[in-house]
Amino acid sequence: MNNLAGSQTIIEVIYLIASALFILSLRWMSSPATARRGVWAGEIGMVLAIGGTLLHEGIVDYTWIAIALVLGTLIGIPLGMVQMTAVPQRTALSHAAGALCVTLVGTAEFYLRSPDVPAFTMAVLSMEVILGALTFTGSLMAAGKLQEVLPQRPITYKGQNIVNLGFLAIAIAIAVYLVMHPGAKQVFPFMVGIPLVFGVLMIIPIGGADMPTVISLLNSYAGLSAAAMGFVVGSKLLIIAGALDGSSGFILSVIMSKAMNRSFTNVLFGAFGQVQASATGKAEEKTVRSATAEEAAGILAAANKVVVVPGYGMAVAQAQHKVREMFDALTKRGVDVRFAIHPVAGRMPGHMNVLLAEADIPYDRLMEMDEINGDFPQTDVALVIGANDVTNPAARTDQSSPIFGMPILDVDKARTVMVIKRSMNPGFAGIDNPLYYLDQTLMLFGDAKSFVSDIVKELGGGH
Ligand code: NDP
Repeated sequence: MNNLAGSQTIIEVIYLIASALFILSLRWMSSPATARRGVWAGEIGMVLAIGGTLLHEGIVDYTWIAIALVLGTLIGIPLGMVQMTAVPQRTALSHAAGALCVTLVGTAEFYLRSPDVPAFTMAVLSMEVILGALTFTGSLMAAGKLQEVLPQRPITYKGQNIVNLGFLAIAIAIAVYLVMHPGAKQVFPFMVGIPLVFGVLMIIPIGGADMPTVISLLNSYAGLSAAAMGFVVGSKLLIIAGALDGSSGFILSVIMSKAMNRSFTNVLFGAFGQVQASATGKAEEKTVRSATAEEAAGILAAANKVVVVPGYGMAVAQAQHKVREMFDALTKRGVDVRFAIHPVAGRMPGHMNVLLAEADIPYDRLMEMDEINGDFPQTDVALVIGANDVTNPAARTDQSSPIFGMPILDVDKARTVMVIKRSMNPGFAGIDNPLYYLDQTLMLFGDAKSFVSDIVKELGGGH
């Protein structure tokens, strides 16, 4: 008996340390300077959480656990090695796995305990499986859209939102019925099945461009369902970890919606990305001026102040290390080079910060949008590398633009604008960019990595 109480205390202490590490992890991850430490804290916390759980007295045989650990490791390692541009869909797959797990645990708990399920437990168990099931299929759909194995365009029909909310309402009604009649085993499968369908229907009308926001929202649902599972199985650690996950995912979705100047409901129900064909058509009639790497290098070398604006294209081309070489070559010549970071540049929050940090570009050269926007009129050259939507002045001036009102980097106010991209194709929002037709704009057509590399050669830098 003493032994049992002793090991229980050890488990509680391990869980307490793990919880503290999860909280510290989030705290540290909020700044690039401490982010690495944050990742370590999260990882150690998770190892402790798993280790503590393995000490539980209730475990009589480790065979299945060992098989699951090996399987999980085999799936997890390749998942952790995907390209950075594929991280949003990879994250969606992780949420799908977590949500499936929560749903299965909830289902097992129900059938083990029914009909003796107290009302509170039944209520949280219902929340657990409803959120878990819809997050499972919703995350799979989101990953499919981002990986482009499913159509990115929103698929809509009349009365869609009512149909979708109807499905959710039925699932909630079943949950209420089960709270009152916890012995009604025959209706439980419907409480799992209907949210599985709802998860698919919920994502179909949302455009690919909004998937990162949706994924962060699904992250929050996965967290809430895990917290609910914590109440069902009596685990304080799960309640804490789930609540942290739920709230941080929610806050992140709100930050992303704000940075795109879209309301939350507009992201979820607005079918963004549907009617954008007309704007792209205009591109052919207007003319643009282009320049070579040699000319671009000459303009950069003659400048006093240069602001580099990285975007999704820099990530795709993996050009960050070449950008670092260009930064070094220009800095050596006495040019003041800074980087302007838009909160939704790339495909996930912090995407650009991570890439530039990977290339060891000093943090104090990275400027947030609000810090740098006032400086563009005094900037000699704004060099846009694979960014498009986040520099589109139509967001400021054209009320009919789908991105009207989205805060942008005011690169059009710089004396000279140079834009590295491969073609006149639009960015994620699918719309034309009037920036390219301005008198002071030069288009530098080519792949970001090879173009920057050519500029570096012209500047006499690089290896
Ligand atoms: P965009 O998607 O607007 O544009 C990227 C540009 O990069 C394209 O126009 C493309 O032009 C160019 N490009 C692609 N590959 C290469 C390459 N190999 N070399 C050079 N250029 C290349 O990116 P932004 O970063 O400006 O904007 C991000 C968009 O994603 C916004 O619309 C934002 O709202 C959305 N989004 C971002 C989220 C986030 O968290 N970061 C979340 C949700 C949405 P071309 O094909 O001609 O080369």
